[in-house]
Amino acid sequence: MRRTVYFDNNATTRPLDQVVDAMLPILREQYANPSSVHQFGQTVRHRVELAREEVAALVHASPKEIVFTSGGTESINLAIRGTLAARPAKRHLVTSAVEHSAVYRLADALEDEGVRVDRVGVDRDGQLDCDELAERITDETALVSLMHVNNETGVVFDVERIAAITQERGVPLHIDAVQSAGKLPIDLSPDGGLAAQLVSISGHKLHGPKGVGALFIRRRTRIAPLIYGGRQERELRAGTENVAGIVGFGAACTHARSALTGDETARVAALRDRLEAGILAAIPFAHVNGRSANRVCNTTNIGFEGLEAEAILLLLSEAGICTSSGSACSSGSLEPSHVLKAMGIDPRIAHGAIRFSLSRFNTAEEVDHVVAELPKLLARLTALAHAGAKSALSY
Ligand code: PLP
Repeated sequence: MRRTVYFDNNATTRPLDQVVDAMLPILREQYANPSSVHQFGQTVRHRVELAREEVAALVHASPKEIVFTSGGTESINLAIRGTLAARPAKRHLVTSAVEHSAVYRLADALEDEGVRVDRVGVDRDGQLDCDELAERITDETALVSLMHVNNETGVVFDVERIAAITQERGVPLHIDAVQSAGKLPIDLSPDGGLAAQLVSISGHKLHGPKGVGALFIRRRTRIAPLIYGGRQERELRAGTENVAGIVGFGAACTHARSALTGDETARVAALRDRLEAGILAAIPFAHVNGRSANRVCNTTNIGFEGLEAEAILLLLSEAGICTSSGSACSSGSLEPSHVLKAMGIDPRIAHGAIRFSLSRFNTAEEVDHVVAELPKLLARLTALAHAGAKSALSY
């Protein structure tokens, strides 16, 4: 059987066995509605509240500050739309030019609805321009929404510095921590923790299930719901809870909390560094995007100059190697990722950029396999490109 090497962990991660084990009894036996007053329902309610404690513990928050949602995207929409709805006099949003589509496409939609949006730029390494951030905030600003870790490059924003700026200006801060939760410590405790009012996290990026996430809402933060209906989640997110998902998410957070204090992060970083060094040594036209920035342990974004990412992706996929590219195919032409564009990466490198994202389940043997296979695949691609150019010339 052909082996699969899964290097696409920023897209989603494999659920841990303990996550699946925690979920199965909920699906099979503990199926009551947690809002039901009978004992059966209250047993299930107890499971939801235990999971809330587990999620809160990962980010050093109070369980009362955790609202469960259907994932990172919904948490982000609740944070941003919910804040704008609760502060109708303020019609200005500050974000960055390198956000995940859950933020940047929402920002586009809000612009169409009359909200003024500023997208702060980044430097060549993908680091936020904090001076520009400070300049963009005005008395009209309802919210600053920025990511902690970039999903394409792994670049870590200096959220402490960002929070110092928003705190000084008295503007609420939302952090998209979907790619950082479980990989970097996050401390939201009121004394000495990160001074963000809202933080989004997602289950499936930290070895939990898909379709479940949470929004941390600091006490006394003004926010309106997106979804109206029942009185679940302190009336901030109506709808019967995804109990199995929530319980699995809680188990994943408990694992992530212990992994953060162990050697898992260092082990994944060593694998990523080995992959990066191997590729750079074997392929002279490979460039690491965001290389000098502070990056999260598991991600490397490598541009193969002069090649098309989609073609590389397909050849890797045929060889059983799962990766991603940030480019989007729009109206037949391949647009390089908005993140690499904002970083000012040469389009010949940006067009050939592949994201390799690792996890605790990867091994050094898999890394070596990819380092051995990739030059052969790229040689095939280069030969094909030359053959194509020659046949085009003969017309
Ligand atoms: N924010 C970031 C940085 C992400 O990487 C993702 C998913 O890739 C999301 C938000 C959306 O999360 P979800 O897939 O849980 O909706």
